[in-house]
Amino acid sequence: NTIQVLLICGGGGSEHEVSLRTADFIQRELARAPDIHLTRVTMNGDGQLLDGDGQVRELRSDKLLYSASGSAQVVDYVIPSIHGYPGETGDLQSQLEILGLPYYGCSPEASKICFNKITTKLWLSALGIDNTPYQFLCADTPEEIAQAQDALAEWGTVFVKASNQGSSVGCYKAATAEALENALKEAFRLSPYVLVEKCLKVRELEVAAYTYEGELVITPPGEVCAPEDTFYSYEEKYAEGSRALTHVVAEGLSDAQLGWIREASKRAFIGLQLKDLSRIDFFLSEDGEIYLNEVNTFPGMTSISMFPKMLQHQGHDFCTYLGGLIRESVQSASQ
Ligand code: ATP
Ligand code: MG
Ligand code: MG
Ligand code: MG
Repeated sequence: NTIQVLLICGGGGSEHEVSLRTADFIQRELARAPDIHLTRVTMNGDGQLLDGDGQVRELRSDKLLYSASGSAQVVDYVIPSIHGYPGETGDLQSQLEILGLPYYGCSPEASKICFNKITTKLWLSALGIDNTPYQFLCADTPEEIAQAQDALAEWGTVFVKASNQGSSVGCYKAATAEALENALKEAFRLSPYVLVEKCLKVRELEVAAYTYEGELVITPPGEVCAPEDTFYSYEEKYAEGSRALTHVVAEGLSDAQLGWIREASKRAFIGLQLKDLSRIDFFLSEDGEIYLNEVNTFPGMTSISMFPKMLQHQGHDFCTYLGGLIRESVQSASQ
């Protein structure tokens, strides 16, 4: 029996383009699964689903995907291949829950918690996992900005982050009062609340955590090396001529450090009740401490992305991995 999978990519957020590239990867991989038939639609900024011919398709409550002419096809499983809104934020997954359609990835609630950098930190702290020191700004007022300036004075260099973005959108490094002021202005344009974090990175480590054949897999960390004069910004991730380097395995970490990262990743995955996949990012600071930076419930799967590389390095085939999750979900949904 062929499983009918609907791949939804794009979305109305700042990571629309990256979402298409992730969808390309997933589509290529699943093309090797003879029992899976994939239909790809792109969500535009109005939330409409468009097929390859630019025609509107509609997923209705009978779990059928309708075309404009009224013909309909069955959908057994959905892959929300959307970084940021409305996929990684959990909004699309809420709709799929209402429809009763199984889907790839985390629940609406876990997605919501992890996409928001403030709620992620609150949960991590509640789980006892060290995370990057920060200050929370809930309004663009002179008082709050004065507090951010105090944080800058204490920490030397800070990272300003819009709390609800990914791919480094709304993320700025600031070492002067003026740079901080500008960064806050930009960040508040993107989000109603903003984080000012202590700049800590000496090394930037990333772990893939995912379910393979029913078991939770935590890979050893890989490493991202951004050029000295910048950080792992949107440009260094995706623009042509990016100078960032990635290593699928981070060298030279002690057993204690590897053990800490593994335990923190496992605790985060289980505690946040993640499902199917995630990429968990860490910083190793100058003083040798490790801090969890963030949890990505739908990590990038572009040609430069760490998640698929780390999974493959683990000896796992992506098509076998995702195909397995799909077959299992569709089977248990039909019982
Ligand atoms: P993505 O989802 O694509 O991983 P993001 O938009 O969620 O990115 P972060 O991962 O939090 O944002 O930050 C983006 C980058 O900025 C990091 O990969 C790192 O290079 C740099 N960075 C962020 N916070 C800090 C920090 N506190 N200290 C040093 N570098 C930082
Ligand atoms: Mg992120
Ligand atoms: Mg992201
Ligand atoms: Mg990150």
